[in-house]
Amino acid sequence: MTDLPELTHFIQGAHVFGSSGRFSDVWNPSTGEVQARVPLASKQEVERAIATAEAAQPGWAATNPQKRARVFMKFLQLLNAESPELARTLSREHGKTVADSMGDIQRGAEVIEFSIGAPHLLKGEYSSAAGTGIDVFSMRQPLGVVAGITPFNFPAMIPLWKCGPAIAAGNAFILKPSERDPSVPLRLAELWKEAGLPDGIFTVVNGDKEAVDVLLDDERVQAIGFVGSTPIAQYIYERAAANGKRAQCFGGAKNHLIIMPDADLDDAVDALLGAGYGSAGERCMAISVAVPVGEETANALVAKLTERVAELKVGHSFDEGADYGPLVTSQAKERVEGYIQQGIDEGASLVVDGRGFTLEGYENGFYLGPTLFDGVTRDMAIYREEIFGPVLAVVRAGDYEEALALATDHEYGNGVAIFTRDGDTARDFSARVNVGMVGVNVPIPVPIAYYTFGGWKKSGFGDLNQHGTDGFRFYTKTKTVTSRWPSGAKEQASGGASFVMPTMD
Ligand code: NAD
Repeated sequence: MTDLPELTHFIQGAHVFGSSGRFSDVWNPSTGEVQARVPLASKQEVERAIATAEAAQPGWAATNPQKRARVFMKFLQLLNAESPELARTLSREHGKTVADSMGDIQRGAEVIEFSIGAPHLLKGEYSSAAGTGIDVFSMRQPLGVVAGITPFNFPAMIPLWKCGPAIAAGNAFILKPSERDPSVPLRLAELWKEAGLPDGIFTVVNGDKEAVDVLLDDERVQAIGFVGSTPIAQYIYERAAANGKRAQCFGGAKNHLIIMPDADLDDAVDALLGAGYGSAGERCMAISVAVPVGEETANALVAKLTERVAELKVGHSFDEGADYGPLVTSQAKERVEGYIQQGIDEGASLVVDGRGFTLEGYENGFYLGPTLFDGVTRDMAIYREEIFGPVLAVVRAGDYEEALALATDHEYGNGVAIFTRDGDTARDFSARVNVGMVGVNVPIPVPIAYYTFGGWKKSGFGDLNQHGTDGFRFYTKTKTVTSRWPSGAKEQASGGASFVMPTMD
């Protein structure tokens, strides 16, 4: 027995306590204390959730898209009004600063705004008189029950990226959020209900691999949207696809920021600090590799970075003066510390060492100071692998082509940025780099809601991106109707049976 608050699932419009007897601890990373426990759903619990979603979906699909959009408008109002409190809940479980959590919610809310346009996005195509008396049209229909499996690092934004287009398109959506920070997803479920969403259309099942595997195997679930680390993304993609499901699975990253000799160096340093250390580096679009071009640029960059990195303020997630907060768990912190040691062992030059940092008054929090490596090379693990912490690696490139090749050849291909004043270079880079999202003098190029988000290579499995028009394509299937009304084509209609392949001629 424990006195810890017990979190729930949210099934058929109501909070439901777990019945599996299995739980996971939910930590407050700023203090290092366990603050709640979250139930880990059993097969039976997930199957029950799927059944309620399946029962509710046809009614929602039959509700006209404009009425569905009105639920979204109400949800957006509630979400915006709630966001300061929601941000504190998020920070308490994740560890990012409250200002950063506000951004997490805001970027999710933008996809809800975009999804209000679903009636337009769901319109089909129509060709009148494609043949004599023949009209052809297409319609977009929902898939049915769909599921989203999401990571700890954006507990508001990514669930909203997934559920917005899915629900607006007429599906019932089951969310399996990260077991590290489940409270925001549960609150989103309450807000959906308050906005008028019918019970069973937005479901939260908390859990781990056991719950995920049920979603992957159950034939009532038509599509899986996943975001998380690459090994799990690949596993989920393969298992979902083997079961005949539609799947889009986004994985880890190693994002480069290239600094050309003509770049505004102060601008580039600001960008590297924010994108490298913001959210303790726990963003899939964090910049973890700085690539200065030419020795002169590199020496100047490292000198400026060394000074500024040492000044960064690490603090409690509720400290308004903090640049970033703790890592999500003690295991995450140990993992990152392990990489720092590996970098030293591999021969990289440790310019700023963040290990050993403690925050006065919160000595048990999962804090790690900012860390900077210089002299990192292609073969090192700290270059090849995702560290997911406040660690920036400087890889020096002799020229532009070498810098371009670094980002292009890396096995991850989520985001990349180039800082330059030269339009030709920026244009050439954008066209040639083998990475899904590119920033030109923009360090974290997360596309706005009406474009799509998705990485390449080991950063994404599946062929449609998140949000934007791809989001709606992913959560709908296209039906094409070819119709003939004989009055317009009397002669052909009465021509008797035809045994050749029909054409429009
Ligand atoms: P994770 O892969 O550990 O977990 C993601 C989800 O998968 C969670 O819901 C978790 O419960 C579930 N899961 C974990 N192990 C599983 C298993 N063996 N079988 C089935 N399900 C399992 O990722 P995380 O630590 O929560 O998130 C951080 C990772 O997510 C980083 O690698 C980061 O780059 C990535 N990420 C990618 C994007 C993107 O858009 N590409 C965005 C955000 C985060």
